[in-house]
Amino acid sequence: MAHRIAVIAGDGIGTEVMPEGIRALEATAKRFNIDLEFTTFEFGSCDYYLEHGKMLPDNWFEQLKGFDALFYGAVGWPDKVPDHISLWGSLLQFRRQFDQYINLRPCRLMPGIKSPLAGRKPGDIDFYVVRENTEGEYSSVGGKMYEGTEREIVIQETVMSRIGVDRVLKYAFDLAQTRPRKKLTSATKSNGISITMPYWDERVAEMAKQYPEIAVDKFHIDILTANFVLHPDWFDVVVGSNLFGDILSDLGPACTGTIGIAPSANINPEGKFPSLFEPVHGSAPDIAGKGIANPIGQIWSGAMMLEHLGYKEAGDAMVDAIEAVLSEGDSQVLTRDVGGQGTTVSLGKAIAERIGS
Ligand code: ATP
Ligand code: MG
Repeated sequence: MAHRIAVIAGDGIGTEVMPEGIRALEATAKRFNIDLEFTTFEFGSCDYYLEHGKMLPDNWFEQLKGFDALFYGAVGWPDKVPDHISLWGSLLQFRRQFDQYINLRPCRLMPGIKSPLAGRKPGDIDFYVVRENTEGEYSSVGGKMYEGTEREIVIQETVMSRIGVDRVLKYAFDLAQTRPRKKLTSATKSNGISITMPYWDERVAEMAKQYPEIAVDKFHIDILTANFVLHPDWFDVVVGSNLFGDILSDLGPACTGTIGIAPSANINPEGKFPSLFEPVHGSAPDIAGKGIANPIGQIWSGAMMLEHLGYKEAGDAMVDAIEAVLSEGDSQVLTRDVGGQGTTVSLGKAIAERIGS
């Protein structure tokens, strides 16, 4: 039976890298005999907002819930629509309503890419950041008192539920279990945040009992960020709350060179709802319309989607093709952010051809 994929390209370079993501997926589907069926939606973009006054139609949930996965480009065009409207009106709706409680980002230094960390080679940086995606510090619980006066008070609470913490930890431990190094690092700050973070630590210790073969360590977020830069080779699977995971999942990919190649997944592991796969980068208005955006972030996100759908070998083949094309270093093929003079299409085609061969 066909796997049904909902495609939402969004804005800016999202509309340019998406066709390359699909080209690569189609080449992979052909080679591995996987039946993928793509359905494109125009909503979830700023143009849709300008026409309809909202980012999504009222029945978006009904329209999308039956799909096996969502393949997303990038959303946002700040000159036309403020970011809080475009982001909250689309992507964050998907994450919340489809209970995509895992945000997963691989951080891997690819051949041919220069890390901003001096002397780092491919192999030195190869880990995953697992971020809690539905509660924690981003829970919008709180309020204001005495607004506009000298006595003004603002409060925002962190919400951690046992279910919410345990389910992200379980995902991270299970992921660590599949990796050769079997190592898990937890981000905490229990010396400063004295109620929720000790609770997080407690749940990590409890979960660790069920995974005796996994080496577990923890760092306070301040020193952890320093260690990402100083010792990226220490890490294998890193798990953090919504805020800490957010910070780490930008810092991690930044250590691996260009933002143009980093992929991400927003996952509902039980498969009750579709999961969403998107590049880490945004709509990049500064380079949109020029055909020079790097499509690798979109293509690699497609590889994560195939893995999620149960085709690990096919997903790995896509990543191998990305690595091979980057290693060859043909400047006519590669985009500018990775040192070439090529285009979105030249790089996308080279990867798709490599997958097919
Ligand atoms: P967001 O608000 O969604 O995080 P943004 O607009 O702040 O996004 P990006 O769109 O990610 O940021 O762009 C940041 C910078 O990285 C821009 O200067 C952009 O040109 C560059 N960039 C982003 N994506 C790519 C890409 N795929 N290829 C090449 N350069 C990119
Ligand atoms: Mg932006």
